[in-house]
Amino acid sequence: MIKITFPDGSVREYESGVTPLQIAESISSRLAQDILCASVLESKVESRKTAAEPLKAEWRIVELNQPITEDAAIKLHKWDDEEAKHAFWHTSSHLMAEALQELYPGIQFGIGPAIESGFYYDVMPPEGVVIKDTDFPAIEAKMMELRAKKEHLEKRMVSKADALKAFGDKGQSYKCELISELEDGHISTYTQGAFTDLCKGPHLLSTEPIKAVKVLSCSAAYWRGDEKRPMMTRIYGISFPKKAMLDEYLALLEEAKKRDHRKIGKELELFMFSDMVGKGLPIWLPKGTALRLRLEDFLKKIQKRYGYQQVITPHIGSKQLYMTSGHWDHYGKDSFQPITTPEEGEVYMLKPMNCPHHCAIYKNSPKSYKDLPFRCAEFGTVYRYEQSGELHGLTRVRSFTQDDAHIFCRQDQVKQEFIRVMEIINIIFKALNFENYEAQISLRDPNNHEKYVGSDEIWEHAENAIREACKEMNLPAREETGEAAFYGPKLDFMVKDALGRRWQLGTIQVDYNLPERFELEYTGEDNQKHRPVMIHRAPFGSMERFVAVLIEHTAGKFPLWLTPDQAVILPISEKSNEYAWKVKEMLEAQDVRVIVDDRNEKLGRKIRDNELKRIPYMLIVGEKEAEQGLVSVRQQGAEEKGSMTIQEFADFVNNTVKEQMNAY
Ligand SMILES: [Zn+2]
Ligand SMILES: [Zn+2]
Repeated sequence: MIKITFPDGSVREYESGVTPLQIAESISSRLAQDILCASVLESKVESRKTAAEPLKAEWRIVELNQPITEDAAIKLHKWDDEEAKHAFWHTSSHLMAEALQELYPGIQFGIGPAIESGFYYDVMPPEGVVIKDTDFPAIEAKMMELRAKKEHLEKRMVSKADALKAFGDKGQSYKCELISELEDGHISTYTQGAFTDLCKGPHLLSTEPIKAVKVLSCSAAYWRGDEKRPMMTRIYGISFPKKAMLDEYLALLEEAKKRDHRKIGKELELFMFSDMVGKGLPIWLPKGTALRLRLEDFLKKIQKRYGYQQVITPHIGSKQLYMTSGHWDHYGKDSFQPITTPEEGEVYMLKPMNCPHHCAIYKNSPKSYKDLPFRCAEFGTVYRYEQSGELHGLTRVRSFTQDDAHIFCRQDQVKQEFIRVMEIINIIFKALNFENYEAQISLRDPNNHEKYVGSDEIWEHAENAIREACKEMNLPAREETGEAAFYGPKLDFMVKDALGRRWQLGTIQVDYNLPERFELEYTGEDNQKHRPVMIHRAPFGSMERFVAVLIEHTAGKFPLWLTPDQAVILPISEKSNEYAWKVKEMLEAQDVRVIVDDRNEKLGRKIRDNELKRIPYMLIVGEKEAEQGLVSVRQQGAEEKGSMTIQEFADFVNNTVKEQMNAY
């Protein structure tokens, strides 16, 4: 008998060789119906190839028919778990491939992974065939037809030679290339119906649970992302265990399209891109700039309260600086070409990160333990080369401004500094109505200590400091082992937007590497020299990315303190234009951001047009208002607020903004 431990801590005994499905059946038939895969943590791991290999206590995601032969902890995954979705979508990519093989005999397959939402498959259609949008319904229908056969996915371990032969015979040259790179003895295939794929799993036991599918899009993708290799067709899809879930997802997708920050950014005249200026280089238009500056001012105000000092550094730095920091090696391929000068040996680089410049600021004067933490902040613009195919609105750009800061502190201050940064992030997210966010702690791989700089002791200290900080702040944090950078553990923040989509924004990152490379020191209480710990942090991540997420979260309806125009004045007819401009002048004198729409259009048309601009208030003025010095106030998406004097409206706006700002 073996002992199986459940997430609630309860333990049950089973025969050795029991499968997750049988375990679920022993609890309830309903559970057995709902689970899609399982995670198992064995106390001893049999998969060790040699006794010298360290014991790894790691959760493994397994298929429901995987026998468990020793004491283990188990998690049974239903649809709501990421693990289940992953297995579901991965199996769906096999189902799509099976359908494609039937529809397009001779089609060749590349890779077909699950992604955050759905899955894709890279394929090479047969000579002369182009797969287009109009083919999607046929692919979906074929998938549903095959799924109705309730085919099981049969796993087989195969030798490398057999695998090469089997896929070679079918003309699957891309698969053969993948197989040739695999280690013999570890190669498996999965077969459902007439389709066999090279894969290591895990999958669902059959394609039966896939009850609704949608082929979403297709695009060109180079084989293995290499522009010198053949161009394949990447077909994206998504699938669900219930039809209603697909409908809900498609409705969400529709809403997401309406909220696309590229579309709203254009409508609200916030930013632009110009091929003449260069791809991936965002240009902030006046309204967008004003909005961004308000965000920056807001952050500066909070940071000042938390003891940060603002600095400004150049957009380039000498090659030597980046040799010292290590960025020269690291960003080699992804960075822009070095900038040479007529001076011999004088080479500069566009700044990929602000950290080296800030290290120079730290070194500018001797520091004692009393000077720490030393916190310097900069809205620093950095440049990184991204392939043109990867560029996407404000979220993937070649030039962006980080809301960057570096904290230099003592080891014993790390936890407190994390808490302080988390407080700042709390304030910002609250001010912008991101109620939902979570964190991920990236830890080092405990079996691979050589990979990391810094002693075991300081790593343990920092990792515990981050854990404790999260606990004290009541922030749910998931731990990911082996995800830390070589130079220190970090904490990432993920926000959920109004549509439930997750975006990675801010980061707090411990760094033991740069202080070493730049030989940063402070004099301790013991009068000895010590290395400070460096903490990188950017609550927004970058201004570009943050504004993009904010646009999609709010659908362009920003809070009153932040929104580009707070009100638009609509004269009923030409006769009231003069009064409209007078109202604008008076409101502007009191810092209300206001524009006039005096186009020669009907009032109804003007109201509709300005609703699209998402301006919170419309002030309608006619002869009656002009006579009495009033404005008739209409709130976006709400009822009329009635008439106010110009002064009353100015007070109303300014008081609302003041209330919003004083809350933080
Ligand atoms: Zn697979
Ligand atoms: Zn940094």
